[in-house]
Amino acid sequence: MSLNGKTAIVTGSNSGIGLGVARELAKAGADVVLNSFTDRDEDHALADEISKETGTNARYIKADMSKGDECRMLIDQAGACDILVNNAGIQHVSPIDQFPVEKWDAIIAINMSSAYHTMAAALPMMRAAGWGRVVNIASAHGLTASPYKAAYVAAKHGVVGMTKTVALETAQEPITVNAICPGYVLTPLVEAQIPDTMKEYDMSREDVIKNVMLERQPSKEFATVEQLGGTTVFLCSDAAAQITGTTISVDGGWTAL
Ligand code: NAD
Repeated sequence: MSLNGKTAIVTGSNSGIGLGVARELAKAGADVVLNSFTDRDEDHALADEISKETGTNARYIKADMSKGDECRMLIDQAGACDILVNNAGIQHVSPIDQFPVEKWDAIIAINMSSAYHTMAAALPMMRAAGWGRVVNIASAHGLTASPYKAAYVAAKHGVVGMTKTVALETAQEPITVNAICPGYVLTPLVEAQIPDTMKEYDMSREDVIKNVMLERQPSKEFATVEQLGGTTVFLCSDAAAQITGTTISVDGGWTAL
């Protein structure tokens, strides 16, 4: 699978799943655009590292995905967008009657509305290029719910609905729009929670992973960022040209329960 000559923009890609997806797209030959709202030296260094490792032209562009105009600016500033991966996301856990308004607004903006703005800006570029792939990183929580995650579950269900809608709008064009729904993925964020949870439950690392974190994941294994990157590369391949408007779960069986 060669994505040589394609430009791939991955929102929220200076860590975790976004960075893993960007690395796999670059390994497949794409020139990736990394993004976050931080603009640190390390963010630019990550892009340099990917360029060196893969012989592609990786860049970093700062843009805050909570702001519609910055979402659109990211696409414009990249100058091309053959592959768009909407990945930026945050979480907040709270019962609905105590859910802080600013957290609700931020989750809806970053996890859902950003995909509206980036797709609106990117589709004309894909149409002009005669090819395009949109991959929205939703979640198992785009298909099912958990208590205390009202904003996240609402935003991720919204992303799945938006994915289907835009797929229908582009169905007769060489553009596909799909969502990947990960279960629990071993990112640095998740890894960092393991020691505290071990103390809290007085459990071994293995028991915390199997019985607390992966309680709802039947495989009892985390998905990896490499697997999500590989699924994204597959959705960009010719084999996936007729796959549009759907979700691919990478969740160890969670949504089969
Ligand atoms: P992470 O915290 O490692 O990554 C989140 C990324 O989003 C970071 O690069 C961060 O810089 C970026 N980001 C946050 N706010 C931003 C903003 N305002 N503007 C631009 N970038 C911003 O977390 P992750 O686990 O890699 O999550 C990535 C995506 O995958 C999220 O959408 C998340 O909901 C989804 N997801 C994660 C899991 C999991 O288990 N880790 C499971 C299902 C879905």
